[in-house]
Amino acid sequence: MLPKEIKLKFNPKIDSYSKLELYISQALDNNFRLFGKRVPTFTIDLLYSRAELDKAVGLETSEWVVGHTHKNRIYLLSPSVFEKASSHMVSDFLPVLTHEIAHIFTNEFLQILHPIWLYEGIAGYIAEQYHNRKINMIDNFSFLHDSKQWAKNSNYTQSYLFTNFLFKHFGLKKIYDFCKSVPQKIGKYNQAEAFFSYFDQFFEVKFIELVKKWEITVKE
Ligand SMILES: [Zn+2]
Repeated sequence: MLPKEIKLKFNPKIDSYSKLELYISQALDNNFRLFGKRVPTFTIDLLYSRAELDKAVGLETSEWVVGHTHKNRIYLLSPSVFEKASSHMVSDFLPVLTHEIAHIFTNEFLQILHPIWLYEGIAGYIAEQYHNRKINMIDNFSFLHDSKQWAKNSNYTQSYLFTNFLFKHFGLKKIYDFCKSVPQKIGKYNQAEAFFSYFDQFFEVKFIELVKKWEITVKE
């Protein structure tokens, strides 16, 4: 049985409830590692074609796009059509579901939004999407900070790899406490400069020094 906070919409002629329940339980367990065992209220709305996804997103999506999260609702292609309707393999379904659920948990329990590289990085860390990724291009982190910049410059690989480095370096609790304090101390829509100086103060280490350390690890 799924927690009562989760509403699942799906087509019972195509998907079996027990199979979907297994996916969702695994995705929740992955999230509990960072957030503890509690569940915000949200809906998972499974879709069965690219056309249904485009309608949910409100625009024509690229074939690598498989889902969309808006407020407390996750729209996601069903695992039954995942390969047919996108460029992903069905093995990506669980990490993608875990990632989208991580955004819901983050919105509820951390309320951090900026920097976007960290917001995406948290979801990538929980979904372990940092595996088997090679970085082509390292951007200045101040160019990955807000949604407007992210729309032009969505460096998921950099976000996933660097955030994973931060979690390994400082541990889950310290990163959790930091993320929770960010909106309270410098605001949800903070600027890059304010973020860097708050980071330096919180961790008592310079952000740019950590970036240098990390760059060595990805260039190996
Ligand atoms: Zn995301």
